[in-house]
Amino acid sequence: MTQEAYREMWENLNLDIAAHDGLLGVLGKFYGDIYMSQKGRLQGMEYLDFVLSEVHGLRIKELQDAKAQGRKIIGTFCVFVPEELALAVDAVQVGLCAGADAGKEAAETLVPRNTCALIKSFIGFKLARLCPYTESCDLIVGETTCDGKKKAYEAFSEHAPMYVMEVPQTKTESARALWKAEVLRYMARLEELTGRKVTAEKLAEAIKTVNARRRALQRLNRLRAAVPAPISGRDVLLINQVSFYDDPIRFTASINTLCDQLEERITAGEGVAPKDAPRVMLSGCPMAVPNWKLPYVIESSGAVIVGEESCIGTRNTRDLTDESGQTLEEMIDALCERYMKIDCACFTPNAERLDNVETMAKDLKVDGVIQYALMFCQPYAHEGIKVEKRLTAGGVPSMSLETDYSMEDIEQLKTRVEAFLETVK
Ligand code: SF4
Ligand code: SF4
Repeated sequence: MTQEAYREMWENLNLDIAAHDGLLGVLGKFYGDIYMSQKGRLQGMEYLDFVLSEVHGLRIKELQDAKAQGRKIIGTFCVFVPEELALAVDAVQVGLCAGADAGKEAAETLVPRNTCALIKSFIGFKLARLCPYTESCDLIVGETTCDGKKKAYEAFSEHAPMYVMEVPQTKTESARALWKAEVLRYMARLEELTGRKVTAEKLAEAIKTVNARRRALQRLNRLRAAVPAPISGRDVLLINQVSFYDDPIRFTASINTLCDQLEERITAGEGVAPKDAPRVMLSGCPMAVPNWKLPYVIESSGAVIVGEESCIGTRNTRDLTDESGQTLEEMIDALCERYMKIDCACFTPNAERLDNVETMAKDLKVDGVIQYALMFCQPYAHEGIKVEKRLTAGGVPSMSLETDYSMEDIEQLKTRVEAFLETVK
C-alpha cells in the first residue's frame, strides 16, 4: 500500500501529518544508508526490510483491525512487563520505540533537560503526535525501573492512558513477594480492560508463544557467534527491535527461516565480515528503533558486533519461562521466577549481571566490549565502572561510551571506536 492509502488512518489517529511525513522521510533515508547499503545480506532480511518499510503502515492497519475485533492494544517500554499476560487476554502488546530525537523541546516542558534521550523521546513522540503506536494504545504500561522513568510517567499520565507496575530493586524474598503482587495486580487490570479472564489454558498457550520467540532469538544468537560472523550486528539489532512490535507467531517463523539460511552460510564458510575482523560485544542500555548510530559506527569501522548484552538483546531472551505448570497459580509463579532473573541495572546489588557479561564475552570470544550508556542514565553509567573492572580483570578489553540520539558526536564516536579497535587487534 502507498503512504497515500494510510493517510486517512493516520488522520484518524490524530497524528500531525506534516511532521509525520517528515519523520518517515528521515527514517527511510537513515534505513537506506545504514541497512540497505550492507553487502551480502541474507534473503531472510527482506522480511525485516518489509516490516520496517511498513512499520507505520501495514502493522498499524493490523492493530486497527485487531481493535475493530474488540482486542486491546498494550504499549510497553520495558522487558519487565510480561507479554504472556497480555496475550492471555487476547490483547496485542507492542514495544513503544523511543530511539529518535523528536519533540525534544516539547518533552523538556514535562521533564528536566538532564533526562536521558529515551525518556525525552517517548514523551516527545506523544506531545508531537508522531507515533501511530502510542496513539493506538488502549493502555500504556510503565514500570519503576529508574527514577527518570518513574517521575516521567507521572507527567506522561496526563497525556496518555498509563498504568505503572512497581518493579522491585532487590532480589530478596520480600522483593519477590512484591513482584508477584504486582503481576497479579496487572493481571486484574488487563482482565478489567479487556473483559476477559486469564485462564490456565490461555496462559499456557501464551507462555509457549513467547518462549518460542525467545528460542528463535537464542538460536539466532548462537549462529551469529560463528567465525566468520554470518550476519551483521546491525541486522541482529534490527531483528531484536522488530520482535517488540511484530506479531509473535509470524516473527518466530520468519526468524527460524532466517536461521536456516544462516546455517547454510556457516556450512559454506561465508561471513559478512572477514574472518579476522575484530569481534565486538555491546553491553548496556537498550537501543530502540531507530537508534542505530553506534552499531553503524562500530561496523563501518571494520568490526563486527557478535552480541548485545542489553534488553534489545540477550537480556530479553536468555531465560525461558518454565512450561511445566498445570494450574494458573503455578504458571504465575513460573512467570514471576523468570522475570526476576532479569539483570537490569536498576537492581542493587546486581552481581549476576557482572557474571553474565563476563560469561557472554568469553563464550563469544570477543576481542572487546563496548559499553553503551545514554547520557544521564545513572544505572548503566554506574554499572559501567563495575563491568569494566570485571572485564579488565578477566583480560577482556572494554571501553565505555556515553551518547544520545543526536548526530553531532558521530565523528567523535568514530575516532574513539577506531582507537579502541586498534588496541584490541
Ligand atoms: S534496561 Fe531495565 S528498565 Fe530498561 S528495558 Fe531493560 S529491564 Fe527495563
Ligand atoms: S536509559 Fe537509563 S535513565 Fe533512561 S530510562 Fe533507561 S534506565 Fe532510565
